[in-house]
Amino acid sequence: MKALIIEPATSYQLVLSSILGEFHIESICAKNGTDALELLNDNEIDLVCSAIHLSDMTGIDLCKTIRVNNQGCHNLPIIVISSEENKTLLTEALKGGATRTFHKHDLELFSAYIRDFISHEHHEHRHLKGDVLYIEDCKVTSSLVISVLEESELNVTHHDTAEAALTALSDGNYDLVITDLGLGSGMSGAELVETLRGNPTHELLPILVVTADTKVERRIELLENGVNDYICKPVIPNELIARSINLIKSKKLYDKVEHQRQALREMAMKDQLTGLYNRHFLMEIGPKKVNQALEKQSDLSLIVIDLDKFKSINDTHGHATGDIVLASVGKLLREHCQTNDHCIRFGGEEFVLILADKGLSDASQIAERYRTEIEALKPANLTVTASFGVSALLHQNDQEIGTIFARADQAAYESKKGGRNQVSVNAS
Ligand code: GH3
Ligand code: MG
Ligand code: MG
Ligand code: MG
Repeated sequence: MKALIIEPATSYQLVLSSILGEFHIESICAKNGTDALELLNDNEIDLVCSAIHLSDMTGIDLCKTIRVNNQGCHNLPIIVISSEENKTLLTEALKGGATRTFHKHDLELFSAYIRDFISHEHHEHRHLKGDVLYIEDCKVTSSLVISVLEESELNVTHHDTAEAALTALSDGNYDLVITDLGLGSGMSGAELVETLRGNPTHELLPILVVTADTKVERRIELLENGVNDYICKPVIPNELIARSINLIKSKKLYDKVEHQRQALREMAMKDQLTGLYNRHFLMEIGPKKVNQALEKQSDLSLIVIDLDKFKSINDTHGHATGDIVLASVGKLLREHCQTNDHCIRFGGEEFVLILADKGLSDASQIAERYRTEIEALKPANLTVTASFGVSALLHQNDQEIGTIFARADQAAYESKKGGRNQVSVNAS
């Protein structure tokens, strides 16, 4: 980042530039307003700090000139620094377009302001990256819009038909769609909006319409149909940028919230020790799996696994060793779990497997395989075994995951009674 300091005294120029330097802002200096305006034209400036008294003009006049004459400087922060406590003068500066005023000796305040400015710039404006899908059939408008957007560091993919844009959307991720309304002979911009809003995948993708239609009723209709914002032709560059950035920011915020929501959900549904899903997940996925199987008339089976004499492992080798055993068994189950199956740590040393498209006989073979694998696992050098209970969805009567689970649990109990380290099937 680069700051322009306008200050007659070289010593004070150094003071300001060293503070800015602490925040990695490079500075260039001018002693008067005329030189400053020239430097502003020739350089990409992110911040202006000006003294209020200059030899050729006041800092206030300099502010006004920058705001009025320099395209692209409307949002440029201008700090005016004064050596006197003249409130009227400082108010004048703010009215003239200054962003902030500071007293010459309030360097701590100045420094705090710069710190805020830096973090704001980093997180909000300039470094906002965004992918824009732009649909416009008029070459003149599109070349202007593309260059304005690219100047603001946005990535632009341009198409001149809505059909091509839809194909691009199915292949890529975008943060904003900007579309013209009249698009030659194919699908119109309004039809594109309708298509996007009718598709749940693009429900929250912001749409900015560029319209030559001056009728307010038409523009209201657009908003009612799901357009987020519009700009009128001829396109005003700063308006285009401001509206685009606003929409991209909301989209990014939504994405962030959605990401956090997913992460929280994942955390709430997972067991930390084993990395398997937990009981809450079973409550959520179980009924869905049953409905799917009923709809598709397909098989669904459930295996309950209960580690044998686990309490004595804890009692003999300590709770930490017990945890190692649980984690190792969890890992084994996780690694063998098929794509459509689900592995759950139901409670302390009890696990549940839900197997899609598998009936009793497949499930009991799978259970038998897990039984031998757990026996061979030897976590923490201990022989660990488990008792298994298998049941399946019986299409005639039981329609609930709870009933299927209860029957598998009953079967696991039979395995315990029968001497543990075995598989029992409940076919009733
Ligand atoms: P059975 O063969 O009849 O199933 O006997 P068991 O000892 O495995 O069954 P019981 O239900 O009596 O004991 C289960 C033990 O599992 C008791 C509990 O302290 C232990 N446990 C539950 N959760 C954890 C855990 O997260 N870590 C450890 N280390 N132990 C746990
Ligand atoms: Mg057009
Ligand atoms: Mg148990
Ligand atoms: Mg047990």
